[in-house]
Amino acid sequence: MKFERFFSETAKKAKASAIRELLKLVSKPEITSLAGGLPDPATFPKEQIKKISSEVIDKYGDRALQYGITEGIPELREWLGKNFAGKDVSLDNVIITSASQQGLDLIGNVFIDPGDPIIVELPTYLGGISAFKMYDARFIGVKLDDDGLIIDELKDKIISLKKEGKKPKFLYTVSNFHNPAGVTLSLERRKEILDIAKENDFLIIEDDPYHFINFKGEDVPSIYSLDTDDRVILLGTFSKILTPGFRLGWIFGPEEILYKIVQLKQAKDLCTNTFVQYIAYEYANTGAMEEHFDLIVKIYKEKRDVMLSALNKYFPKEVKWTKPEGGFFVFAYLPEYIDADKMFYDAIEENVAYVIGSAFYPDGSGKNTMRLSFCYPSKEQIEEGIKRLGSVIRKKIK
Ligand code: PMP
Repeated sequence: MKFERFFSETAKKAKASAIRELLKLVSKPEITSLAGGLPDPATFPKEQIKKISSEVIDKYGDRALQYGITEGIPELREWLGKNFAGKDVSLDNVIITSASQQGLDLIGNVFIDPGDPIIVELPTYLGGISAFKMYDARFIGVKLDDDGLIIDELKDKIISLKKEGKKPKFLYTVSNFHNPAGVTLSLERRKEILDIAKENDFLIIEDDPYHFINFKGEDVPSIYSLDTDDRVILLGTFSKILTPGFRLGWIFGPEEILYKIVQLKQAKDLCTNTFVQYIAYEYANTGAMEEHFDLIVKIYKEKRDVMLSALNKYFPKEVKWTKPEGGFFVFAYLPEYIDADKMFYDAIEENVAYVIGSAFYPDGSGKNTMRLSFCYPSKEQIEEGIKRLGSVIRKKIK
């Protein structure tokens, strides 16, 4: 610790996560990993990106290589507003971010003072926990069931806060095909949450990276599109539908909030990568994006099917798991007496890895849970991984 004395209090808060340490064990080639949440490279439209990259230089010249405005290039913002907002929005309701992780950091930066209560789902997205922790948020967890966040529990948590003379600053939800839980928030609950937010005057942060990885094709309207009270901010990303390497995402929200976020973003990166903004815009504007969704959905749906049927075949009946209609993840609940944190090392011995579910619970609970990803491994690896894991779990069943 040669330089510890120079580090800021903020830097000291940034700890390498326990899961990162565990994932180091996963890099051995003999291990079948159901841990990582990387997109399948077969979904990257490499040839089109190659072609469009040179076309962008010809078409936009220096503009594509120059600094851009912090809000993002108007062409892409307008396209996103027209095609992905789900309601009429103006250019001032859309900004581009260096993908959703930056969006989450900006949300933390713009809203959270140390100790501010925020409502999160139990489990919730790990990157959300890391981003909001940096601003010293106080996490108030609300459990999920198959229809998403449990409304009665949300109401109870708000009442408890009220007794302390407090209220949440915002509620953070991954509304579709949840990471890690795999569930989708039902339409009724979306409406109820909006009413509760209005009644108790807090904001809603809707994080929706898996929206288009939808296996059934039935779209539940976003909370953002249902909102008539300017209370919702929606985060989107090209990471799962184009390539995560672009580091390109967007935020829809009320103009005044986005204006403040832009002021903070200026200090972080001046602007998001201009070149990839033009590439994404040109790609989307040819209509290629919608066609591409068909391929993506086909790839991930087949893998989801393989995982669900392998779970049925190899997991003991004492284990329960979610059945995602989209996205990348299945979440499994083991009997309470099995500690999935400890079992991780047994799984590594059997050459299979998962993400310990407790990493997604900011209150330290969820020890009997695990996240299983079907996005990156091949179908054969999924089948083999679940088979190996099934036998590891079986040995723990009483
Ligand atoms: N939110 C959620 C729920 C995610 O699953 C992810 C990616 N794992 C992100 C945000 C961040 O994605 P990116 O920064 O690549 O847009």
